[in-house]
Amino acid sequence: MVKVYKKVVTSFKMQVKRRYLMLLKKEVVESGLKRRRGDCLGCGACCRSSFPCPFLFEKDGLFLCKIHENKPDVCKTYPFNEEDVFPHTAENCGYYFVDEATG
Ligand code: SF4
Repeated sequence: MVKVYKKVVTSFKMQVKRRYLMLLKKEVVESGLKRRRGDCLGCGACCRSSFPCPFLFEKDGLFLCKIHENKPDVCKTYPFNEEDVFPHTAENCGYYFVDEATG
């Protein structure tokens, strides 16, 4: 129970921070996205961080988005840099970041 509470509270705080950055520090988001590699593996972990997204559905073992083509930027940009990765998704997320120099 403590673990679930910690996950919800931590990711909620991070979601507030990422919205702040997306609104007022776009350059941080954009520079991180340029270094992002990999792809979403459909684990759904980010979409179930603080509350389960109502657009999430499961198909063939993957968690998919009902509005994928039109989903909000806050979803499209997850994760935008290393610090934006929710701790509970860190091990399984298909995205990773390269150094600017090698990117
Ligand atoms: S945690 Fe990563 S791999 Fe899993 S659904 Fe989110 S973006 Fe995709």
